[in-house]
Amino acid sequence: MSPETSDFDAIITMKKDIHPKYYPSATFKCSCGKTYTTGSTKEYNEVETCSACHPFYTGKAKLINTMGRVDKFLKRAAKKTVSAKKK
Ligand SMILES: [Zn+2]
Repeated sequence: MSPETSDFDAIITMKKDIHPKYYPSATFKCSCGKTYTTGSTKEYNEVETCSACHPFYTGKAKLINTMGRVDKFLKRAAKKTVSAKKK
């Protein structure tokens, strides 16, 4: 892209009818209660985690355990370790 061409120019010269409707100020609502406004092809979006509550950003070792998926994984990982030791 040449310095004369801005990102905005790229947006308005996109092909018509092949792109979904773009909402420049769509709402994102997180399960922690925080809401964000950003661009999206959906006007309203719900997310499970965001930068305000995700452990990576908060630094808290909080596991997001949905439907016991973490437990299942730990059990499977433990089984694999046992069978590997038998060899
Ligand atoms: Zn959140």
